[in-house]
Amino acid sequence: MSGQSNGSSKDLTALKSNVDVVVVGAGFAGLYMLHRLRCMGLCVQVIEAGSDVGGTWFWNRYPGARCDVESMEYSYSFSEDLQQEWNWTERYATQPEILKYINHVADRFDLRRDVLFNTRVSSALFDEATSRWTVSTQSGEVIKTQFCVMATGCLSAAKPPEIIGRDLFKGASYHTGLWPHEPVDFTGKTVGVIGTGSSGIQTIPEVAKQAGHLFVFQRTPTFSLPAGNRALKHTEVQEIKQNYVDLRQRARVSPTGVASYPLPTLSALEATLQEREVAYEFRWQAGGTAYTRTYKDIMLVAESNETAADFARRKIQSRVSDPVLAEKLTPRDIHIGTKRLCLDTQYFETFNRDNVSLVDIRSTPIQEITEVGVKTSDAEYKLDALIFATGFDAMTGAILNIDIRTTSGLSLAEKWRSGPLTYLGLMTAGFPNLFMVTGPGSPSVLSNVVVSIEQHVEWISDCIQHLTKNSCTQIEATQTAENNWVAHVNQLANATLFMNANSWYLGANVPGKPRVFMPYVGGVGRYREECTAIANNGYTGFQISGSTKT
Ligand code: FAD
Ligand code: NAP
Repeated sequence: MSGQSNGSSKDLTALKSNVDVVVVGAGFAGLYMLHRLRCMGLCVQVIEAGSDVGGTWFWNRYPGARCDVESMEYSYSFSEDLQQEWNWTERYATQPEILKYINHVADRFDLRRDVLFNTRVSSALFDEATSRWTVSTQSGEVIKTQFCVMATGCLSAAKPPEIIGRDLFKGASYHTGLWPHEPVDFTGKTVGVIGTGSSGIQTIPEVAKQAGHLFVFQRTPTFSLPAGNRALKHTEVQEIKQNYVDLRQRARVSPTGVASYPLPTLSALEATLQEREVAYEFRWQAGGTAYTRTYKDIMLVAESNETAADFARRKIQSRVSDPVLAEKLTPRDIHIGTKRLCLDTQYFETFNRDNVSLVDIRSTPIQEITEVGVKTSDAEYKLDALIFATGFDAMTGAILNIDIRTTSGLSLAEKWRSGPLTYLGLMTAGFPNLFMVTGPGSPSVLSNVVVSIEQHVEWISDCIQHLTKNSCTQIEATQTAENNWVAHVNQLANATLFMNANSWYLGANVPGKPRVFMPYVGGVGRYREECTAIANNGYTGFQISGSTKT
């Protein structure tokens, strides 16, 4: 598959062998973590598998890639100067623009000198006698550290589909999450795309503009809304900038980490049919994933959800000329929002083009990938190029790709065999001094992730500062606190409709992965309050040791 390797030579000047903190990953999370810890005077080593900064936005270079939280909110808030000086040009920024922004941040705060690029962490071993971690890389570097922060990303372990013959295909193949750095030209080619989630629906309209013919292999139809993307006006940017401090604060205490999303108080069932039509139309025209926040119980009550789903289905059908095709593209057996709601630009309209065909692989399943294309139960599609838009081993994939153990023999992979277990999504019992940014059990992927990243980074750096100030060497989540948190996360999730879908939130896209709802559904604001109270109360539920406090 193209685009996967980053095996170019590495600059070892960045490597330090004995540090206070190792941070794994140089996306939004790893870079801010480095900045905060460095400001505290700590010695930090960041290790990144890619050849540069950016994380998600470094790897996902597929055509059409852009954010689906508005740019003015999907950005760091920690520096007033930074947010005033940067100018977003579109309502939803493109991948190149977001990557340019992250590069600007890395330059502005001089972050690259502490990042070792082209280096993949393979293991981390906690020595219980010294309270220190030994972090090892695939290429043989070994670094000793007191604290280890996994800023490895929730959606960074690309998942190719488990289809017979996947590697036999002799044409060009790509995974959206491992896209090549050089532009790919599909002009005149016969192209296949497998997958119609957020990545697929962004890729398909762009590839269709170039391809001679595009075959879209769809297993599950997707609920998607027109993003309503547009250029940002100078005046509106200035207005937001004037009120940025207030907007960012509202985002931090909101349920989703997005200040501009509504806070509904009404049930969908309290409104009349006519009122609902007006409300859904308003949200539809506004664009954005806030559609499922039109009423307070859309994600809780099947009957309420159905009102939103029904409206969305009618909208989808109005975008596709051929009614038979429209029906195939319409999701029927899933509650809207229980798989991540997508935002698109001309996705459904793309199927009105003569050079685009939908292959419904629910009725005619893919049997194998051959040297020349994709074979379904009723045809073989000969292709020049094949794009896998098949998603990620989400939330746990990147962390569990690292062999994390303690000298007493505890392994994280074994501990999480039946699903991830954490306290606050920040730490896991039995693994002292190991932090996770946006780990399972935190709002993470159900929020504006940059807001959640900032909250975690600030909590972790404050915690390390607290330990340092009190000359403590070790912090660990207690088993009781973890058990209670896991029960709380499950209890909240069980009350929602999320539990009914075969989504990546539940690990359902990875064969054999335990079916556990991984993110925290209680909301960003409520979660932040809990984390803050725990820290203010002297880190309740954590065992701190090594010196003055036990
Ligand atoms: P990442 O950006 O994933 O960075 C993690 C880094 O860790 C990667 O660079 C990876 O190479 C590195 N790494 C992992 N394992 C290792 C290892 N063993 N050794 C060395 N390095 C390692 N969220 C939103 O809120 N809004 C959006 O609009 C949005 N759009 C998205 C679009 C796409 C295409 C995708 C895939 C995700 C999107 N997300 C969005 C989620 C997005 O992942 C987060 O918003 C955010 O970018 C995550 O930052 P991060 O630093 O936590 O992780
Ligand atoms: P995804 O949502 O998991 O979608 C994967 C798609 O591939 C699904 O349509 C899935 O079908 C299909 N698929 C997987 N395995 C298959 C197989 N063996 N055979 C046939 N089809 C298969 O992955 P994604 O689109 O990469 O998105 C992941 C997440 O990243 C999103 O939910 C979002 O959080 C984030 N993201 C955001 C944006 C954005 O707009 N900002 C863009 C891209 C990604 P089934 O549904 O039937 O399993």
